[in-house]
Amino acid sequence: MEQGTEDVPVVYLHEIKRQYMQGEAPLIILNGVKLALWAGQSVALVAPSGSGKSTLLHIAGLLETPDQGEVYVGGAPTSQLSDTERTLLRRTEIGFVYQSHRLLPEFSALENVMLPQMIRGLKKSETVKRATEILGYLGLADRLKHRPAELSGGEQQRVAIARAVANAPRVLLADEPTGNLDPHTADHVFQALMQLVKATQVAMLIATHNMELAGRMDRRVSIVDGQIVEME
Ligand code: ADP
Ligand code: MG
Repeated sequence: MEQGTEDVPVVYLHEIKRQYMQGEAPLIILNGVKLALWAGQSVALVAPSGSGKSTLLHIAGLLETPDQGEVYVGGAPTSQLSDTERTLLRRTEIGFVYQSHRLLPEFSALENVMLPQMIRGLKKSETVKRATEILGYLGLADRLKHRPAELSGGEQQRVAIARAVANAPRVLLADEPTGNLDPHTADHVFQALMQLVKATQVAMLIATHNMELAGRMDRRVSIVDGQIVEME
């Protein structure tokens, strides 16, 4: 599938610029990034370390604001939103998966997936139901009560994915989500992500160094001189 059913991208990055100061001199990381993410489409972001993949994902996820440019979510600009509005939008529309799972160690898998929904104000019984469903869908039905330390790396990462999609976001951003996993486990976690895209029509952007996995996604892009280029 090349494009989702809607004709507005779920996320559109327009002329994004981001630089960091390195002593006196600016270090330009993103220099006019344009990128549309569509419902139901998986996009691999493949670029060398230090080229700005995490920066781009953080900006797309409204975790960081660009120096210039606009991030549109569902066609609406976000640069003028208040912190509260931005947080709310992030909570409902955006899921984020990191290279390390970042689960709360004192809580069970189920509780980790319930939390984002409870923060959003859903009833506890609803959060239990939905968290159980998602974890079951990701093959973790018999791991609900396990704490992160009692799970394998691949299981931890699947719980992190379940947490990221707990509020049914429209975009899922994953920053090298299989980077810490052995090839077999990476493949399992990757399949879970791809399954979610097809089942929920979420838009997905995954930063990865794994060319084999990138090859199995709908589309591949890279960052060259601070700009997005389509690969192939
Ligand atoms: P990637 O994820 O592709 O490895 P990053 O987006 O993490 O790249 O970083 C891109 C570049 O920006 C790197 O050279 C990094 O050192 C620099 N950088 C990232 N964050 C900061 C920051 N907060 N302050 C200064 N430089 C930063
Ligand atoms: Mg990175």
